[in-house]
Amino acid sequence: MIVSDIYKNTVIRFKENEIPEPENDTRMMMEHFLGITRNDLMIHGDKEVTDNLETYDKAIERRCTREPLQYIIGSASFMGLDFKVSPAVLVPRSDTEILVEEILKDLHSGSRILDMCTGSGCILISLMNYSNECIGVGVDLSKDALEIAEYNASQLVPDKAVSFINSDLFEVLGEGDKFDIIVSNPPYIASAVIEELMPEVRDYEPRMALDGTEDGLYFYKKIVENSEKYLKSGGLLAFEIGYDQGEAVKQLMLDYGYNEVEIVKDYSDMDRVVKGIKAFHL
Ligand code: GLN
Repeated sequence: MIVSDIYKNTVIRFKENEIPEPENDTRMMMEHFLGITRNDLMIHGDKEVTDNLETYDKAIERRCTREPLQYIIGSASFMGLDFKVSPAVLVPRSDTEILVEEILKDLHSGSRILDMCTGSGCILISLMNYSNECIGVGVDLSKDALEIAEYNASQLVPDKAVSFINSDLFEVLGEGDKFDIIVSNPPYIASAVIEELMPEVRDYEPRMALDGTEDGLYFYKKIVENSEKYLKSGGLLAFEIGYDQGEAVKQLMLDYGYNEVEIVKDYSDMDRVVKGIKAFHL
């Protein structure tokens, strides 16, 4: 079959199966499984393809069941870096880049950073990659997620001081182990809303990375409460939040005496990040 026919057929199959971005996904699949770049598509459309068509077809079938593209190709791009992903971790989202960029504004050399619910490690590893001499600790309840995070750190920031801890939130962190920055993109979807999410998320991404219990706010409460013990005075606490959680999380941080609490919007003008500075105790 020739390149342009493969492209056309795949786009049609994706459209029939209501894949949200059929052209984009087709290009990504062709590049990953057939080595056909965007450039080949434009100028070598009549080139015959014979290799790997069966593997390609199986991958297309998987995508037609709405399995996320990133699980099928095994990686996701985030902050210009390539992260390994598996169904044990949430697929890194471009929305989360806003959170990373907000923290990079305040990041100093030598900061100790805690990433709570690290998943693939995308937040922590990006921060480490774009900073100097920081110390990073990633925590997750899922051992399978931590395996992925450790792999990503070994590939992307091999020379940086990053470690991972398997813990239910702060449970096994040493008392008095204080950080300059605590960041988290915790599970924040209200349980009842999960069934309404798109099939890629609802049927394939790990529930434990999504479910923020009844009101979606459970992890914010736990993390803010514990930041008393684990965040230095003057330190930064920054969260990714759901579009309708900004005011609730802001109020929570104000209740705990945080200063300069701010809601930051994403590129779609939705509330996406809440951050604040821990007060100094006089
Ligand atoms: N911190 C990870 C991410 O942003 C995982 C988040 C989660 O599991 N809720 O992708």
